[in-house]
Formats: sequence, C-alpha cells, structure tokens
Amino acid sequence: MIYKPYGRTGIEVSALAFGGMRFIDQDDVDSCAQLVKSAYDAGINYFDTAPGYGKSEDLFGVAFKEMKRIRSERPFYVSTKTSRSKPDDIRRDLELSLQRMNIDAIDFYHMWCIIKRDAYERRKAAGALEEFGRLQEEGLIRHVCISTHMTGPEIGDLLADYPFAGVLLGYSAMNFAYREAGIEAAARQGCGVMVMNPLGGGLIPTHPERFAFVRTRPEESTVAGALRFIWSDPRITAALVGFSSPAQLAEALQAMDNHTPLTEAELQQIRSHMSDAFNELCTGCRYCDVCPVDIPVVKYMEAYNHLMLSGSEKEMLTRLRFHWGINRENSDLDRCIECGACEEACTQKLPILARFADIQRIMK
Ligand code: SF4
Ligand code: SF4
Repeated sequence: MIYKPYGRTGIEVSALAFGGMRFIDQDDVDSCAQLVKSAYDAGINYFDTAPGYGKSEDLFGVAFKEMKRIRSERPFYVSTKTSRSKPDDIRRDLELSLQRMNIDAIDFYHMWCIIKRDAYERRKAAGALEEFGRLQEEGLIRHVCISTHMTGPEIGDLLADYPFAGVLLGYSAMNFAYREAGIEAAARQGCGVMVMNPLGGGLIPTHPERFAFVRTRPEESTVAGALRFIWSDPRITAALVGFSSPAQLAEALQAMDNHTPLTEAELQQIRSHMSDAFNELCTGCRYCDVCPVDIPVVKYMEAYNHLMLSGSEKEMLTRLRFHWGINRENSDLDRCIECGACEEACTQKLPILARFADIQRIMK
C-alpha cells in the first residue's frame, strides 16, 4: 500500500481509500462491516461516508467498534460530511454522525456537495464556517474540508476563500480536463486532494473499449489503468473507490500491489489519446467558454457525455441535477441566442446547439 501526506495535516493516508457510498445490501450488516474490516486489514486507512448514503455511517460504526481496539497501533481516519448551513443544524448532524459511527471525533469533516458558488456563499453567510471552527476547537472535528462538483477554475476560487485542509472532487481519466485547474490550485495551496469517482462513476469499467487508452501496460485491466492514472499524479492524495463486494476490493488492492507510476511519456499518451477516444464526446477542454450570455456550455456537454455513454436519459438528468445543480426550473438554455460561437470554438466540433435541443426536450 502506498501512503501519502494529506496536505498540511501531517497525516499519512492510504492512496487507495474506502468510499462508503456503494454498499449494495445495506441490510446485510455483517458482510458490509466485514468489507470495511478487510480493507483495513489490507492497509486502507481512510474511510469516507456521509449521512445521506443510506445506512453507510451505521455500517462503518459496526466495523469501527472492532477496529478501534487496535487503532493506536494501526491508525485509521474517518471522513464524513454535512450539507447544513445553520450552526445548530451542523452540530446536530455531527453529533448524529459520531453516534452512528461509535467515534469521538471526525478526522476530515466536509462542507458537502457545493455545486455552485452561491450555495457556498449562502452556507457561509449562515455561519457554517464559524461553526466548523468552533467544533474544531472543541476537538469534535480535526480538519475542515470541502466536497464540490464545480469546474476546476471555480474550485480554485473557492480554495482561495477559506483555508480548507482538503478538497474532495470527482476526477478520472474520463473528465480530468474539467477539474485540472482545481487540482492544480489545491496542490499549490497544500490541500489534500481526495478523488471521488476515479472510475468515472462505473462508466470506465463498463466501457473497456472506449477507455482502452488508459491501459498503458498490456497485462493490466481498464480499472487498473484508470487507477494508475490517478495514483501517478503527485498532486492527488488518494483515490476514493466505492466498494460493493470483496471482489471489487481485491481488484483494487491488486492494482495497488502492481502499481508503478506512469512515465511522463505514458501520461502524455493518455492525455493526447483522449480526444480520439472521445471523438464525439466533450473532453472538458473549455475552449467553448466564449458565450456572450454566460451559458456554462461545458456543464451541459459533460452531462450529455453520460447520455451517450450510458444511453440513459435519466442518467443525464441525474448528472445535470446532482453534479452541476441544473434542472428544468433553473436551466439557462432558453437564454441561448444561437450565435454559434461555442460550436465554432469547440475543439471536438460537437453539434452543441443540437445537443441543447435534445437536453431541453428531455428536461420537459
Ligand atoms: S450558441 Fe448559445 S451557448 Fe453557444 S455561445 Fe452562443 S449564446 Fe452561448
Ligand atoms: S470546447 Fe467542446 S469539447 Fe471542449 S469543453 Fe467545450 S464543448 Fe467540450
């Protein structure tokens, strides 16, 4: 197992981290808790959950009860989140998380799921950051972090506003261009960088031909190639993998055992092959950021990627709503004046306006 420093905290975490959002049968408490304990025994020491992941915190709580007995010899770190704004609500959320997980403090507590800057400003104005500070002074939180789905430059702005210890963001061989600037800003400021969805939310392993370009070693699987891409990036602290089964855990552990970093040439090869592999997909390069009425073209096109890869309109709508904070009510597509500037600038020559029409039809 590789361990890396989590930003400026002085804590070393495993580069393969356990994401607690994908337990399949949450009623099978013993199997879920056993999965957590097996990961711990294999050297994983960072466990991420959230109050909104069903019974995930309770399941970790069952495992932590046993793991705590040897925690002084083999430390482990717990990450959870709150989407509350008001101090009292945040405190209540935290107390419930501690209770469910049988622990006395949260190592990495996240302001959860910031999709837009105004949402961050609203929580800040309600006193969320002050409350995090108080909880930290009381020893109930060790480090204040943020989880976000914003674009790279927006994440950079956010990190300049408050000294977060770390940032949790979606990043993979599928979408790295969207978040590149955020990763860079986080690394520059000494923040820990936890990557969620390193396998593109499952799209990478389910489309091995499309993502064949991540396999730089003949013998490796697409999953191993996608993880190697993350682990080779010195700016990234760890990849958070949501495990559902012992087989998935074993595959990721094997990828870690066999890990040797990509050479600079291999890294460049992956980056440059992306445009070919993504032929009719958006690569997140942001050259379309030229809209005279400020429509975030890249967000719509990224969600459209999900429609093209999965064939599911629902998947695209989910992506728009929960990842980019866009729904039928607040969509700004009807402000498009069809000037064509974005299409002209698009490096992939995507039919952006036709895709807008599709998205509007599906959103109705
Ligand atoms: S076509 Fe629409 S989205 Fe594209 S740049 Fe013009 S106004 Fe903006
Ligand atoms: S220019 Fe084209 S490929 Fe690049 S982000 Fe915009 S829509 Fe996507």
